[in-house]
Amino acid sequence: MAKVLILGGTRDAVNLAGAAAALPGTEVIYSLAGVTQNPNLPGCEVHTGGFGGPEGLQVYLSDAAIDAVIDATHPFAAQIAANVFAACEGIGMPRLKFLRPPWVPETGDNWIEVGSVADAVSYLRDHASAVFLTIGTREIAAFAGLENCRFLIRYIHPPKGGVPLKNCEVVVDRGPFLEPGETELIRSHGVQYLVSKNSGGDGAAAKLAAARSLKIPVIMINRPAPPAGAIAEAQEDAVAWLQKL
Ligand code: NAP
Repeated sequence: MAKVLILGGTRDAVNLAGAAAALPGTEVIYSLAGVTQNPNLPGCEVHTGGFGGPEGLQVYLSDAAIDAVIDATHPFAAQIAANVFAACEGIGMPRLKFLRPPWVPETGDNWIEVGSVADAVSYLRDHASAVFLTIGTREIAAFAGLENCRFLIRYIHPPKGGVPLKNCEVVVDRGPFLEPGETELIRSHGVQYLVSKNSGGDGAAAKLAAARSLKIPVIMINRPAPPAGAIAEAQEDAVAWLQKL
């Protein structure tokens, strides 16, 4: 029996963990940071909460007798990706990064590509506007100084303790979203700019199609570089990697 730790936190990671757990002779532990209420879960053992940096992760890998690690965390979860890399390198643990391909602009898209959330904030400082912020909830406080903008933000759950932006409207909804709904949301709120991380995948792509059809510019935050080493872009490639081990 091979024991695999899959670090998750995305819908793709849940699907991968389910597929890996269905492989004969494979036991999967799926890990989450523990920041989302009622997360999507695969039907396997789940570990919730951080490990305590690379050193803590090494201890966990040894104590749990893990044979291989797949880092299927979100493309923007740079800290945990670096920790997994360092921990696995340090003890010679087989590791794969599962990273869906980024979105690329299509005909009709008007993307303003920036390198970070801070760069998106800088851009908006000079462009007073109605902004649909779709970057998750952890980094929205970075936009708090933009008194010239009004914001639309979507939460999975009603935000506990309020929203750190003054001029802000909140919608509570959980994806995957479809283009007609995204078009209506953008149109009805008079959105002038969409801000997005280049997460890739199908689940969040409808907002980009809606922005394209409504000719709304997208401030697209490019990904941090992934750690060195093997990358699988598709679930079947990650499963094949496991089968080869
Ligand atoms: P991060 O900054 O890269 O990591 C912060 C710390 O959270 C890590 O050092 C680790 O703590 C813990 N951690 C993160 N992911 C973990 C996992 N899957 N299992 C166990 N511990 C984990 O992470 P983040 O960007 O805040 O993302 C947190 C979670 O949300 C991740 O699971 C990610 O896949 C998911 N997510 C992130 C984004 C995004 O835009 N960043 C979007 C959607 C989903 P220790 O050092 O104590 O081990």
